[in-house]
Amino acid sequence: MPADDPLKALYREMAALTEPECSGGCGGRERRLYRCCERRYCEAAREYARTRYGLELQETGHPELPFMGESGCVVDAYLRPICALHVCGIAYGCGLDEVKSKEYYRLRNEIIDEGRRQGKLP
Ligand code: SF4
Repeated sequence: MPADDPLKALYREMAALTEPECSGGCGGRERRLYRCCERRYCEAAREYARTRYGLELQETGHPELPFMGESGCVVDAYLRPICALHVCGIAYGCGLDEVKSKEYYRLRNEIIDEGRRQGKLP
């Protein structure tokens, strides 16, 4: 896989866009960071990485979330598409600001188009 794989780059952009929301405790709505992380989504990432890229994700030893590290998830965004595409403002309709919302949907559409081209849809 080339280093400049467009799908990886798009997921990196999406992670950069959503990170301030997540690291701020769901845009200030939650006290606990990463509350949307659940073991089943880690398992979905494990399965996706294995089946689409032939990679075995390394566990961190976290008691509940296999891929949660000390400063957040250790899995590259392109290997955990369900997690990478989630942001509470979009998922629960409370909204991101107009500029961020537009950017979110632009990236999501490009990820879906490129993922379809590569046979790597979530
Ligand atoms: S973001 Fe990482 S730690 Fe959180 S559910 Fe997804 S794979 Fe697990």
